[in-house]
Amino acid sequence: MNTVSGNRGLLQAENLIFEIGAETRTGVDLPAPKGRADRLGGLKRTAPLPLPGLSEPEAVRHYVRLSQKNYAIDLGFFPLGSCTMKHNPRLNEKMARLEGFADLHPLQPVQTVQGALMLMEELSRWLITLTGMQAVALSPKAGAHGEACGMLAIKAAIVARGEGETRKRVLVPSSAHGTNPATAAACGFIVDEIKGDADGRVDLADVTEQLGPDVAAIMMTNPNTCGLFEPDIRRIADMVHAAGGYFYCDGANYNAIVGRVRPGDLGVDAMHINLHKTFSTPHGGGGPGAGPTVLSAALAPFAPVPYLVRDGETLHLVETENSADGEAQPFGRMCAFHGQMGMYVRALTYMLSHGADGLRQVAEDAVLNANYLLARLKGHFGAPFGDRPCMHEVLLDDSTLKPHGVETIDLAKALIDEGYHPMTTYFPLVVHGALLIEPTETESKAELDRFADVLIALAERAKTDAAHFKSAPHLAPMRRLDETRAARQPKLRWRPEEALRAAAE
Ligand SMILES: *Cc1c(COP(=O)(O)O)cnc(C)c1O
Repeated sequence: MNTVSGNRGLLQAENLIFEIGAETRTGVDLPAPKGRADRLGGLKRTAPLPLPGLSEPEAVRHYVRLSQKNYAIDLGFFPLGSCTMKHNPRLNEKMARLEGFADLHPLQPVQTVQGALMLMEELSRWLITLTGMQAVALSPKAGAHGEACGMLAIKAAIVARGEGETRKRVLVPSSAHGTNPATAAACGFIVDEIKGDADGRVDLADVTEQLGPDVAAIMMTNPNTCGLFEPDIRRIADMVHAAGGYFYCDGANYNAIVGRVRPGDLGVDAMHINLHKTFSTPHGGGGPGAGPTVLSAALAPFAPVPYLVRDGETLHLVETENSADGEAQPFGRMCAFHGQMGMYVRALTYMLSHGADGLRQVAEDAVLNANYLLARLKGHFGAPFGDRPCMHEVLLDDSTLKPHGVETIDLAKALIDEGYHPMTTYFPLVVHGALLIEPTETESKAELDRFADVLIALAERAKTDAAHFKSAPHLAPMRRLDETRAARQPKLRWRPEEALRAAAE
């Protein structure tokens, strides 16, 4: 239904700020400065700056309207697979807003920030203990940044062994998250794919065949992106080590095993931890992430600066590579300062408020919730590995919908009409028409039942009414977009001439 105003009910339509603002408008009204000579040496602008001026109420409405277009974990269930979209406890936020943490400046003298450094030390201790590793680099600012940190540590270790020219290959399973091969390539490695077997796991025979003196590392995710625990992981780690390589584990799925399995016991050499997934700090548009990277004894000496050292009662940060002592041979630095302080406060608050037993229960409940959804949904959708329990994610596909002319994308769009953010679609790539759902431990049984009821009803409707799905979403402000064109010809800059031309057409 089209409205005259473009608004839908109380949801306000909103144009770009360049379309609603104008150079001639402003929220402040100051008299022109008088009695001062121009000190710009002839560099004074002759034309006004083309910025879209708005009055204060217009500016407020613009941003509030935009904010209401967001779907958020605080608004409803967010079933994205692999992303661990769990509730962000409000206690975390309260602690992060304490002045002693929130108002720090990264260039403050170190004796004035001892409390913050103690918090970083305590967080490091928890991360090292939970993972059974030797050291942690706190500074990476996201999972992908943590991958880069781990792979650069591996590279430094290989160069230190004098094998920098010969060990160039990194093995990555076909089911891997796209960041894994991208990171390896960005760090200068050659990426070779390892096959998956029919059971959705890494093909052991293929690993054996591909390992050799030119392999720097294997990058694996455990539990993997099919939502399954890799049962041969310890054997694979041993094989990689025997061949002289290192084992990078993508720790994005750590939520499924936190408190239950220590990656160090599995032979992992480096693993990033997405604090914004497992440890409940805000995610994506909700806030900056953090990707601390834990390192084994073999890689710990290569950890980047800055890192914390304790000198009796005092903590300080080793800031430069040449001030490193003893065994340390830092490979460099990941970011300007020490990383995301606010995320450290939130993550440690979460750990302390759960305790070791609470964190174990997080993993158990996350797996229980996923298995509950699997049990309810597998009779209604294709479930490629549905003959056995899953870990924290349910992997379904569109094989039962396709005979009726409905595909994964159509189901996802129909789910928007029902008020749900769609699950992850078409990932992992190894499953055709994949639907990957991660409920997390923070959803109640009632919420899971509501979601399952909706999905089951949609699966039934698909049998007789494909047209409904093909034209969905019907109720969203934007209908189906030309996603291929958006990806191939992205418009990254607003140009007034183009906008005028489009309006004329
Ligand atoms: C989220 C995720 C990443 C990347 O983490 P970011 O914090 O988004 O950079 C890597 N691997 C897997 C499996 C993930 O789910």
